[in-house]
Amino acid sequence: MQLNAKDQLPDSGNIGDATLVRLSVNTLLKDSDAEILQLSVGPMDNNVYVIRCTQTGDAILIDAANEHERLLELCTALGIRKVLETHGHWDHVQAVPAVREAGIDVGITRDDSALLSSYDFVIDDEEVTEVGRLRLKSVITPGHTPGSVCFKLEGLPILFSGDTLFPGGPGNTSFEGGNFETIMKSLEERLFVFPDDTIILPGHGSSTTLGKERPHLAEWHERGW
Ligand SMILES: [Zn+2]
Repeated sequence: MQLNAKDQLPDSGNIGDATLVRLSVNTLLKDSDAEILQLSVGPMDNNVYVIRCTQTGDAILIDAANEHERLLELCTALGIRKVLETHGHWDHVQAVPAVREAGIDVGITRDDSALLSSYDFVIDDEEVTEVGRLRLKSVITPGHTPGSVCFKLEGLPILFSGDTLFPGGPGNTSFEGGNFETIMKSLEERLFVFPDDTIILPGHGSSTTLGKERPHLAEWHERGW
């Protein structure tokens, strides 16, 4: 049976705990405004995030990275119709064809769009994606790839950093299209302008905060990676 998200009514209630447990989905935040879910998929342990408006039940997914059956089940349960890609590297996009096939729209920045065989919309800089009453703003941060993008949740100290910022430093710039000077400029001019309490939710591994990482910027420059 083929799952088709367009055939499902969005669930404005709570997704069942049993479903979350079965799909190994972690709830990172849940309050009266917002819910943030995380699951790890594929051989590179990619983080996939769901941002959900608690009040309306609208939800969006960040990075259709891998394990499309698991992601489609989650998308169907939550009525998710849209995916934002942090960048076009292979480990972040393996489930893109399957979710598009199921009627879910996938967006990527123009500068990374050539890395995808197909997509539905382009993500521009400082573009706001409304998720119910929540607003997710794109912050384009080239360096890891030419079109890497982060997403800042407005009104909450939460930033989805893709592979641009991790605990301990910037993302790898040794792949084709990567550039260390460019990623450091992106970090300094676009990410470290947010307050220290900003929680960084990266594309792999654990979270950090800008406050924990800020003292190490000079060190990263010095070492060159
Ligand atoms: Zn990457």
